[in-house]
Amino acid sequence: MDGGRRRDRQSALTLVAEQRPDEGRALAFCGHCGRRPQRGFRAHARVCESCGLGLILRCSAQDAPPVDGAFLVLDARLRVCAVSRRAEQLLAVSETDVVDRHLSALLVPAEAQAASGESLAVAIVQAAGGDRVTRTAVVRPANTFGVRINARIASCGPRPAALIVLEL
Ligand SMILES: [Zn+2]
Repeated sequence: MDGGRRRDRQSALTLVAEQRPDEGRALAFCGHCGRRPQRGFRAHARVCESCGLGLILRCSAQDAPPVDGAFLVLDARLRVCAVSRRAEQLLAVSETDVVDRHLSALLVPAEAQAASGESLAVAIVQAAGGDRVTRTAVVRPANTFGVRINARIASCGPRPAALIVLEL
């Protein structure tokens, strides 16, 4: 573990001590309520102990959604894998009704241009393929005009998927 001293000095300079060790490190969260598993949580357990509904997912700490945040998980075919409780409320859908449906049933690019639709799809496909670059897009609910939501798109796992966090 050499380099520890150098990193300590960096954190003293930036005064953001938490960000440094978290960078790139995996953080576990519930795919439904967004809660982090408690300490002592069985490493092999797959379902959230808080809500009993979500599968435990992982992503880098800086990409993790806030607890009770609005987020979706999609696969590389743009199919919905999970919808958080808050996103269900925001988009007025039930996760069970939209799992396996195409992203466009829930979210579309806020801009009408074809290019923005393409870039949203590309960002999701790349994240679902394990690309560690975090991208952003402006989206709106598929059934609502005049709403703009900033979305952050990153990779999550354990099965590679795209995490879309809606920043409200
Ligand atoms: Zn949960």
